[in-house]
Amino acid sequence: MLIGKNTVVGVNYALDVDGMQLDASGDTPLTYLHGHGMMIPGFEKQLEGLAEGDTYDFMVTAAEGYGELNPDAITDLDKQIFLIDGNLSTEVFEGAQLQLTNQDGQPMVGVVAAIGEDTVTMDFNHQLAGKNLHFTGSIAELRVATEEEIAHGHVHGPGGHHH
Ligand SMILES: [Zn+2]
Repeated sequence: MLIGKNTVVGVNYALDVDGMQLDASGDTPLTYLHGHGMMIPGFEKQLEGLAEGDTYDFMVTAAEGYGELNPDAITDLDKQIFLIDGNLSTEVFEGAQLQLTNQDGQPMVGVVAAIGEDTVTMDFNHQLAGKNLHFTGSIAELRVATEEEIAHGHVHGPGGHHH
């Protein structure tokens, strides 16, 4: 069989960005249900039509990956909210990843881009936004999804949901 909509795919992968390996599946292939938007669009598109045992090596552009950098997602926040007893929290430094809460109470993960006199500049873009993604790997395992998996939009059993 070939990878298409409703195929359960076990895939070995390594992700390189700017020549550095950022992520890899390691000893256990990543398992996902193809065609349900579980993976970034460019990744699913490139795996479409591959068979078990096939290897691959491709680039996914930022637009088909984690999106382009959004300048509006970089914002200055009042430094006061990062102070503990009048001192800047030790967790706040350039490059630090922080989880904050927005006005709706939703958690937002961002990176400290700069620390000014009265403000802290936070970048809430996905860390891989604006990046081209280089994927290499192989197709470890393929099977047809069960009706229940298709209805739920995710994989059950090993590597998937247990419920
Ligand atoms: Zn389910």
